[in-house]
Amino acid sequence: MRVGVPKEIKNHEYRVGLTPASVKELVAAGHELFVETGAGKGIDCPDSAYVKAGATILPDAASVFDTAEMIVKVKEPQPGEIAMIKPHHLLFTYLHLAADKPQAEGLMASGATCIAYETVTSRSGTLPLLSPMSEVAGRLSIQVGAHYLEKAQGGRGVLLGGVPGVAPAKVAIFGGGVSGVNAAQMAVGMRADVTIYDISNERLAELDMFFGSQIKTAYASRDAIARAVEEAELVIGAVLVPGAAAPKLVTREMLKTMKRGSVLVDIAIDQGGCFETSHATTHADPVYEVDGVIHYCVANMPGAVARTSAFALNNATLPFALKLANLGAVAAMKADPHLANGLNVSGGKIRHQAVAEALDLEF
Ligand code: NAD
Repeated sequence: MRVGVPKEIKNHEYRVGLTPASVKELVAAGHELFVETGAGKGIDCPDSAYVKAGATILPDAASVFDTAEMIVKVKEPQPGEIAMIKPHHLLFTYLHLAADKPQAEGLMASGATCIAYETVTSRSGTLPLLSPMSEVAGRLSIQVGAHYLEKAQGGRGVLLGGVPGVAPAKVAIFGGGVSGVNAAQMAVGMRADVTIYDISNERLAELDMFFGSQIKTAYASRDAIARAVEEAELVIGAVLVPGAAAPKLVTREMLKTMKRGSVLVDIAIDQGGCFETSHATTHADPVYEVDGVIHYCVANMPGAVARTSAFALNNATLPFALKLANLGAVAAMKADPHLANGLNVSGGKIRHQAVAEALDLEF
């Protein structure tokens, strides 16, 4: 199959649909690869690395869309890209259509087959093409939290791990899923005093088994959360209720009880955030202060570590990209019902029930 990789054009998006290593795998499987010049520049993968991996470099996105049958991207296609998508194309990327009717209509009008990373499932019921980004965000949350706890950043002047003779900082993590566990791993590594709060008793039991005595777990009752925010220096919001807005776990009133210079990192901001005082921020201006508490609420945290994120995403997407290229979309989805769950649009129609319901469109 002819596989194309355009350069991402969304503001501050540096990741790339296929890294040179992924290109090499697809070439080895007998496919022809076409990469737009500069597609990997933002993560220090130059055109020469793609040529070495067996790709042909094309001068612009239009030539990639003209030449390729399958297009592998990262972010949802922007209006200029949608205009280049034709009925014969197979698009494999994040789409997030449920909240983006114009894009959904554009893709329907294109007639193309569009498979969204975010709705591909796994045997264990997880979302395998979303979890690498939750892993990144979870791990990064402790790094940024530690940074903003520094005095020069307006923080409390506290070292997460303490030192001999001085107690470590308290870290409260709300939500013990993919991002929460990854946050906990980093916080434990820095020797902080870590507690994970969740409303799933099953999950709490798993966390207890996994971390042993390295962390504490607690049921996320209102009372427990109120006490947690009062005591913690760093609070991580990592909850998810699938398909719904994040529950507001920390109210404005609770915020007033927090220590001055403590830090909130709201990973769940992409679902509206789990602190009442959260609003989305950007990498250019990531934090603001309310009642002396620093809020970090960047909605695309993985963008800060684009190189790691691009490689992590490719690790997860490559097996599916190979399957699609080897078998073609129809046979690949027939062979793998989890990949088939990724189908969002084909033949001018929405093919994913939840997406159709969210957009009030025919399924
Ligand atoms: P997940 O499904 O793996 O885990 C969510 C956890 O939250 C589950 O264990 C669930 O039991 C728990 N939970 C649900 N309601 C709760 C409540 N009221 N109190 C306590 N715990 C509760 O989800 P995830 O992959 O870790 O993602 C978490 C959030 O991070 C999502 O909103 C996701 O979209 C977001 N995310 C944001 C970024 C970013 O850049 N900001 C990046 C990746 C993921």
